[in-house]
Amino acid sequence: MTDSRFQSPFAWKTPGEFPPILDEEVPPHIPLLEKYKIPYIVDIHTHIFPEHVMKLIWRWFDSVNWAIAYRQDALERMAALKRNKVLQYTTLNYAHKPGMASWLNDWTFENFSRWEGSIPFGTFFPEPEAFDYVRKAVEEYQFKGFKLHCEVGRYDLNAKEFAPTFEYLEKNLIPIVIHTGNAPKKGKFTGIAFFKDLMQRYPKLKVIVAHMGADEILEYTKLLSRYENLSLDTTMVFVDFLATGMETEQAVPLLEIHQDQIYFGSDFPNIPYNLSHPILNLLNLPITDSAKRKILYENGKRLLAD
Ligand SMILES: [Zn+2]
Repeated sequence: MTDSRFQSPFAWKTPGEFPPILDEEVPPHIPLLEKYKIPYIVDIHTHIFPEHVMKLIWRWFDSVNWAIAYRQDALERMAALKRNKVLQYTTLNYAHKPGMASWLNDWTFENFSRWEGSIPFGTFFPEPEAFDYVRKAVEEYQFKGFKLHCEVGRYDLNAKEFAPTFEYLEKNLIPIVIHTGNAPKKGKFTGIAFFKDLMQRYPKLKVIVAHMGADEILEYTKLLSRYENLSLDTTMVFVDFLATGMETEQAVPLLEIHQDQIYFGSDFPNIPYNLSHPILNLLNLPITDSAKRKILYENGKRLLAD
């Protein structure tokens, strides 16, 4: 069978040379964890949707020849996380239309306890009911955070319908993973300009910018010293698949400088390579052992602790 990755419209570092897509019995990063004193990995950016929604999402990935390494049922996927020693991970999902976020949150709440190690995250949409179902997700469901996706949701972070929810999340220091960057697909409301406005309005908001804000990694990183609760996740940045832009080398020193404000993220299961690939790449970067340990483990563990 021809590898669909040959047909990808997104670039690969070395065209035609791909990292393995199947897990090895002992993934190659496992022996390194001990060396770096990393007891297990915390992944701040993993996705889980109801199966029928997941299948629709996979259909879109198929249309752009974006291979899905873990096209499996939920329990098999959770076993793969465990095999890779990812023992804490988020349940990110998001809505692309009104009236969807609330039932996604209900679905996550009803199911997450079946997935060992999962940390429940919810989502919301700019709609009048958002504040109520977000508060319910926090206070009744005990969700640890939320996810927004500006390209898929086609919303402006500065929409007035968001205001009461952001105020509440800022006051309670609840993390929100936001896909606000232009990569892999630019949207009407993606990019640093919208994001800067949001941070100006809510300077204490605990935001984790997905994909380090690619393709504007340097611009997003500049905000880290100004906003102490702001951080970035490494999702799909230090990999051989260049869907999030070409700036990987430039971004390496930023990991060292901002090691307290960076989290490891993978985008599992929708990745066109095995989960060991981004972990191994991070562990092999020319940064200090302490930065590696913080990014892959300590920062996430602290964020998700009770
Ligand atoms: Zn994602």
